[in-house]
Amino acid sequence: MKRIAVIGGGITGITTAYTLAKRGLDVTVYEKHRYAAMETSFANGGQLSASNAEVWNNWQTIIKGMKWMMHSDAPLLVNPKPSWHKLSWFAEFIAAIPQYEKNTTETARLAIAARDHLFQWAQDEGIDFDLKKQGILHIYRDKAGFDHASNVSKLLAAGGLERRPVTPEEMKSIEPTLAGTYYGGFYTESDSTGDIHKFTNGLADAIQRRGVKTNYGHTVTELSADASSAWVTSFDGKEQTRETYDGVVICAGVGSRALAA
Ligand SMILES: Cc1cc2nc3c(=O)[nH]c(=O)nc-3n(C[C@H](O)[C@H](O)[C@H](O)COP(=O)(O)OP(=O)(O)OC[C@H]3O[C@@H](n4cnc5c(N)ncnc54)[C@H](O)[C@@H]3O)c2cc1C
Repeated sequence: MKRIAVIGGGITGITTAYTLAKRGLDVTVYEKHRYAAMETSFANGGQLSASNAEVWNNWQTIIKGMKWMMHSDAPLLVNPKPSWHKLSWFAEFIAAIPQYEKNTTETARLAIAARDHLFQWAQDEGIDFDLKKQGILHIYRDKAGFDHASNVSKLLAAGGLERRPVTPEEMKSIEPTLAGTYYGGFYTESDSTGDIHKFTNGLADAIQRRGVKTNYGHTVTELSADASSAWVTSFDGKEQTRETYDGVVICAGVGSRALAA
């Protein structure tokens, strides 16, 4: 049986380990924390939202990002200090702008498929993650925002996602606590919300039941590979171990780039 190491116990690593184990592979997860889902997958916006599949690669994002750099309370802040990685990342970001439409449609398709898998796995493994299937409502204060969303809806529809325009009155009946004045909105009935930490931990229990070895508290310090094998060196706070595998999947979040390099 092929032995695969998965580095990282966030939602990406745990779902990867789950699908590999179901395919009959011998899987080991390395996670530096004592439990799964203790970094980005600890808490997020809670959205299972195919309606947010619009990719960010367009000039408006860049203009918005530059304006936000003047506001300390911006929702997203770019540190202007240059580095080779940051410059090459921005170059790749700009180079992908011509694929904005195609990539948005493909991302919607991928999001719908991912959502179906997550629902199915939660049901198969009996995971309660506070799933609420009540749809997601996007709200717009002006015509320009609403018109842009209307164009995005066409791209999402090409990927198989239905979301419908709603008037301010309909918005208030969908979400009675909504206050203020709006131009209009878009409602995606098939979207939902849930707790990423509960989901990932529930699936982490499921992989253990399926025989996956979970090396919690193990920090991977070195990776190497040749054409047929891979070696994982890890440290558990007391001793360093080196194991041999047939393959490695790196799901280490912000740590992935350094490990993959
Ligand atoms: C503020 C915010 C809101 C968000 N809202 C949403 C939302 O509403 N809906 C949505 O779908 N997505 C949302 N996201 C994105 C989503 O939460 C992340 O994409 C997802 O959690 C990333 O999971 P991951 O497994 O890739 O990374 P992580 O959860 O960060 O997992 C990586 C793991 O690798 C481990 N690791 C790293 N290096 C090593 C090493 N050397 N050795 C061993 N282990 C290591 C880390 O400890 C960590 O547990 C949001 C993100 C943020 C930041």
